[in-house]
Amino acid sequence: MSYASISLNLDSMDHAFGYPAGYEDPTFGPVMDRFEAFAEQFGFRYSLYVIGRDLEKQRHRAKVRGWAERGHEIGNHTWNHHANFGALSKAELTEEIHRTHAGLADTTGQAPDGFIAPAWSYSDRMMDVLAEQGYRYDTSLFPSLLYYPFVLKNAWNHLGQGEKFWRILDRRDWLQPLVGSREPYLDRGVVMLPVPSTPGPLGLTIWHTTGFLLGWEKHFGMLRAALAARKYFYYVVHPADLTCSADFPDLPVNALERIGGSLAEKQRRFAESLQVIEDAKREWVTMGTMAGLARAELV
Ligand SMILES: [Zn+2]
Repeated sequence: MSYASISLNLDSMDHAFGYPAGYEDPTFGPVMDRFEAFAEQFGFRYSLYVIGRDLEKQRHRAKVRGWAERGHEIGNHTWNHHANFGALSKAELTEEIHRTHAGLADTTGQAPDGFIAPAWSYSDRMMDVLAEQGYRYDTSLFPSLLYYPFVLKNAWNHLGQGEKFWRILDRRDWLQPLVGSREPYLDRGVVMLPVPSTPGPLGLTIWHTTGFLLGWEKHFGMLRAALAARKYFYYVVHPADLTCSADFPDLPVNALERIGGSLAEKQRRFAESLQVIEDAKREWVTMGTMAGLARAELV
C-alpha cells in the first residue's frame, strides 16, 4: 500500500501583512472554506500547520477548533514564523515551539505532534527541541537543488523589507539539500518526512507551488514521477494557492506570491493536481498517520 497526505502550511495573510489592526484575514474564512470543499470532494483530511500568533484572535481560534472537529490534523508551524527559524538560539526555538504547542492544545483540546519550520529552515538544534518536546514527526527537510532558487526567489520577493529579507538568508542548512535523505528516517526518535521529490540523484522536490513556477504540464509530469517513486507521498499547499486579489481589496499585495490570476483557474489546477494523486491509487491519510506507518517500518 502507498499513501498520500495533503500538508497545508497555513501561512496567513495576517502574518504576511504584519497583523494590521482591525484586519479580517480571509485565510480564516472564505480561503479555507475553498480548501475544505476539496477535502469533501476527494474524501481526505488536511494536515494543517498553524502559526501560533494567529491564535491570538478569538475568531481564528474558533476556525481552528472547527477544522479539528471535522477531522483535520492540526500541527505546529511556530509562533512568529521567522524565515531564519533554524538559525535561532535554543531558547528562542524552545519558546517558538512551546508557545504554539500550548496555544494549539488549548484551542483544540489535543496537543499537536507534527511540525514544519517556516521556509523549510532546518537545523540540528531545532531537532533537539522537537525531540525534547515529544514531537513524533517533522516535515522541514527540502532535499533538492530547487532549495537554492527557492531561497533566492523568496528573498527577492521581500527585497526592501529589512529584517524579513535578511532572515530569509540567515540559514544553518545550506548544505542539507545536497546531503540530506530523500526518504523517511528517524532522528532522535522523530520521524523525518522530507518533501517528496522525483527519482534520480538530481531529484526535484514537488509541491503545489512548482506548478505556478515551472508551468502545469511540467508540474503534472513531475508529480506523477514523484508519486511512482515514493511510497509515503505528501503534497504541500498554501492558502495563497486558492487566494485571489478580490480577497483583500484594501491592502497591498506586491510581496505575496501568486495572488493575481483568476480564482476559477486556481481551483481547476488544484483539482487537477488532486486528481493526479488520486489516480495513483493512494490511500489518503493525515501526516500523523503517515508518520506512524513510516515509523513502524523504520524501527
Ligand atoms: Zn509557512
